[in-house]
Amino acid sequence: MDLAHAEAEHPATLSQHMHALESLCRVCGKNVKVLSGKDTGCSKTKYAEELHGLYNVDVLQEDPSIFGQVLCASHRQLCTKFRDAKARGKIYYTSVSMYQFEPHSETCSICSADVKLHKKRRHYSPRHGEDKPSQLTSSDLIQQYQALPTVERKLFLEQFPQFLDERECETLAYHLGCTQQEAILQDIPRTAAMYNDIEQLLSVDKKNWLVGRNIVLQEFIKGLSNLGVVESQRKRFILAQITEQVYRLRHAHYVGPISFMQMLNIYKATGSKQAV
Ligand SMILES: [Zn+2]
Ligand SMILES: [Zn+2]
Repeated sequence: MDLAHAEAEHPATLSQHMHALESLCRVCGKNVKVLSGKDTGCSKTKYAEELHGLYNVDVLQEDPSIFGQVLCASHRQLCTKFRDAKARGKIYYTSVSMYQFEPHSETCSICSADVKLHKKRRHYSPRHGEDKPSQLTSSDLIQQYQALPTVERKLFLEQFPQFLDERECETLAYHLGCTQQEAILQDIPRTAAMYNDIEQLLSVDKKNWLVGRNIVLQEFIKGLSNLGVVESQRKRFILAQITEQVYRLRHAHYVGPISFMQMLNIYKATGSKQAV
């Protein structure tokens, strides 16, 4: 669509229309702020691959003056289901059909719904301070977070990373790592002592290798690799291996159970199934 041309036809409202689209879910067409006061939606472009798989649309190419720009919480979940199924080599189908977005017009339903919404908002918000910039500081935000009930905290933590850009994720990942470095160092002597002879090593329930090891590290790796529930022996072994390598980064002389076995060549000699 020719933006300049369209703007000339409906001078006052095309930009309003586009502004409204920034809060509309690409799948259901609903306003994410209305669906949940807490949700500001998440850019649909983050789910481009899933939306292509589910609906055969390319959200990266479509016109921002016509289509909703975000996904509501339940349609993010739909995309996540698709993603998880795909990771397991399965195809996930949905019976949910996509909302039919129409270009802005004189009788545009998107714009009239948005006007109603804003009138309602203005009615409930205090008149003064409406145009005041937010004075919220990071410590206010931390205090508010600490005041949340556990369930809300968990929900916040699940959703928050989706609103971060790459640099912000980078900062968060680094500082999360910092919170675990001491715990990993403390865990090193414990794991090394667990396997100080071969008999002990072979008698150990292999399912338990990861139990007691740094859970934050394990969950981070699971998230990165889309591992979900670790059911197979092979995946559990790889996860244990990565965990151990990180421990080695933390402490140069650390020899964990897997490196210990590999040093003794048990792994090769007995075949992976028996020894691992
Ligand atoms: Zn939706
Ligand atoms: Zn409109």
